[in-house]
Amino acid sequence: MKVPFLDLKAHHAPIREELDAAIAEVVDCGAFAGGPYVAAFEKDFAAYCGTQYAVGVGNGTDALWFALLAIGVGAGDEVITVPSTFMATAEAISFTGAKPVFVDISPDTYTMDPALLERAITPRTKAIVPVHLFGQVADMDPILAIAKKHNIPVLEDACQAHGAQYKGKRAGNLGVAGAFSFYPGKNLGALGEAGGTTTNDAGLAKQMQVLRDHGQQAKYHHSHIGWNGRMDGIQGAVLRVKLKGLEKGNAARREHARQYAELLGDCAEVVLPKEASYGKHVYHVYAIRVKNRDAVLKAMTDLGISCGIHYPVPVHLTGAYASLGFGRGSFPVAEKCADEFLSLPMFPELTREQIAFVAQVLKDVIRKVK
Ligand SMILES: *Cc1c(COP(=O)(O)O)cnc(C)c1O
Repeated sequence: MKVPFLDLKAHHAPIREELDAAIAEVVDCGAFAGGPYVAAFEKDFAAYCGTQYAVGVGNGTDALWFALLAIGVGAGDEVITVPSTFMATAEAISFTGAKPVFVDISPDTYTMDPALLERAITPRTKAIVPVHLFGQVADMDPILAIAKKHNIPVLEDACQAHGAQYKGKRAGNLGVAGAFSFYPGKNLGALGEAGGTTTNDAGLAKQMQVLRDHGQQAKYHHSHIGWNGRMDGIQGAVLRVKLKGLEKGNAARREHARQYAELLGDCAEVVLPKEASYGKHVYHVYAIRVKNRDAVLKAMTDLGISCGIHYPVPVHLTGAYASLGFGRGSFPVAEKCADEFLSLPMFPELTREQIAFVAQVLKDVIRKVK
């Protein structure tokens, strides 16, 4: 049996006609860049997240960048985030002219450790960006309390957490704004590149709308230096169709996680992901931790099971950020996790037989590489 890491073909097959019809509608009316289909998706996505506004943009990196710019982050500022994330979180900070400042993660949730946050705050700190890694929301209450004490806005990197919850509220509705990616493999994915922000702040929403459209308040009246960060009309129409299946997909992922945990629970060599009691994990990535990770990964691949590593190098140790001067030992939890993380196949259409096979092969492999 072969088990893919992700199967977008299977995901799209049952909604293929609806997707084709949605695309044809945009082609017929020609609303390709922004426009009514993006606006309709923004309305639906804001309602889903429970926020007043959503702003459709080109990708998740744009979403983070525009949100930071709208908050007022710029040259000379510092923005606090975590080293255990996709590169884009730090890149968006750097492209405002600010410097990323890292806080290590909690070994239980793999998200920002609130106990380490306050000591990272300086007079230059202009924003805090917790990352809801793998589909689990960071522990927002203590983070928001510290942020409030220092009057610093919190932007959620919710690029992996569409529909995830914290104490009954959805990701994207917890900080001043949330940034989402609709990259094809995300829990809510476009048929191409797309992203979006959420907020309850009318001023921030307006600012992000202006930034994504060349700083225009009205056509050819440029009040700000903006950028071209609009969402495609076709992606807006596609995402509107796919949003209807997000809850079902997330429920399937949670059920798969339950089955993995049941099958691997007796394997002492595997550290399973933990769902924090405060929330609802949506398992964008099902990352376990194992010793000899690289050998386990290779053996799994050789036996037909596609796994991944998210992410092999924590951001502070990448060549891109060498100038920050961090060495090994700077953020020990993030570094240990990066050495041990192994992402098992996880997507809604995964079958019980496939999960059982993955678990069995993993146990065999671990016994052999020990
Ligand atoms: C995917 C992702 C991004 C970037 O999104 P793109 O749409 O690829 O630009 C940012 N942060 C995290 C945590 C992500 O997983």
